[in-house]
Amino acid sequence: MADSDGAFERKTCRVCSGRSLRKVLSLGSTPPANAFVRDPNQEERFFPLELSFCSDCGFVQLTHVVSPELLFRDYVYVSSTSPVFVEHFRQLAAMVMNRFRLQPDSLVVDIGSNDGILLRPFKEGGMRVLGIDPAEKIAALATKSGIETIPIFFTASAAADIAAKRGKAKVITATSVFSHIDNLDDILAGVKNLLADDGVFVIEVYYLYELLEKNLFDTIYHEHLSYFTAATMSGLMGRLGMEVFDVSETDTHGGSLRVFVQKKGGPNKVSGSVGQFIEMENSKKLSDAATYVRFARKIGDNREQLRKLLADLKRDGKSIVGYGAPAKGNTLLNYFGIGRETLDYIVDDSSWKQGLYTPGTHIPVVPFDELSSRKPDYILVLAWNFAEPIMRKCVGMAKFIIPVPTPRIVGE
Ligand SMILES: [Zn+2]
Repeated sequence: MADSDGAFERKTCRVCSGRSLRKVLSLGSTPPANAFVRDPNQEERFFPLELSFCSDCGFVQLTHVVSPELLFRDYVYVSSTSPVFVEHFRQLAAMVMNRFRLQPDSLVVDIGSNDGILLRPFKEGGMRVLGIDPAEKIAALATKSGIETIPIFFTASAAADIAAKRGKAKVITATSVFSHIDNLDDILAGVKNLLADDGVFVIEVYYLYELLEKNLFDTIYHEHLSYFTAATMSGLMGRLGMEVFDVSETDTHGGSLRVFVQKKGGPNKVSGSVGQFIEMENSKKLSDAATYVRFARKIGDNREQLRKLLADLKRDGKSIVGYGAPAKGNTLLNYFGIGRETLDYIVDDSSWKQGLYTPGTHIPVVPFDELSSRKPDYILVLAWNFAEPIMRKCVGMAKFIIPVPTPRIVGE
């Protein structure tokens, strides 16, 4: 339950309920990363952004939980605007239908279904589909476009309701959304109830291993409560009478873990991949608190280097703007302490962000055209995982600063 401030702090591990949580990284206090503001004088709510490590089970997590009502009811991000994601989910649906030989009319339920990006190809493949998504506007949009979507949070009781009305699901999917959920026991009880005995639960989550390897610290924000490995995912499922039977990696969000789960004793043979992933994670010491302390130090160094680079450029009278206003850009700006004194504005292609200000740092977000009318000397690439296409698009307009993992200038 959220307290009156819209957030609360957990004292127990989200996966094992243990009390041995150790704080390993603090990114300060920030507003929710998607809470762009209309008026820079408007009061904002800041919540601590801290990563904790469970010494009992090795699970890495945020312990400050911001109310999902605050984060997701007015969610405006529409998945299908990204052709890369459309293709990703089309392939996922095709693979699942083929691998598990789904019969026509099998029920497929997607938790956090957004605009129906994953369910659409299932429907085209002859499946009965149902979306669950609390973002009311997006859910209405999805339903109108032919993907029936219930505008609620998925819970055990919601699952029981769906099972009673529509029967059991052959496939349940949860992509990205799985790391948004605080009460995993409840949602997994729901999944277990709604899933057919020979059904498959498919999860895609940010992969903690890649986060560490690629320094993706800016994917840490309040929406992302959980940072899974194959080991912690297997532990979680095992505790709740389920079983991870296959694991693979996909390249979405800089590296995600795709996990196949069934009820314990289900029809699928447990693949060797599960043991291989866990072994690799052990060899990288992902269940060792010291790994995260080192990671925190590395980010601290990144911060100092970038701040120095930007300060030097400002001292030389250079103008700097940002490119891309993704949620993760706000973790970077807030934690690195970069605001309007450094960036004149941030260019972003999504029209709903234009005219708004970044949460916490209050930098105006403007359309692409501003770049040619107000020519900057440097562009700080905040959407740095898309650095290549951004630099191609803006070639010749300015020099580029890639902020992570080690700040560097391109184009000099
Ligand atoms: Zn734990």
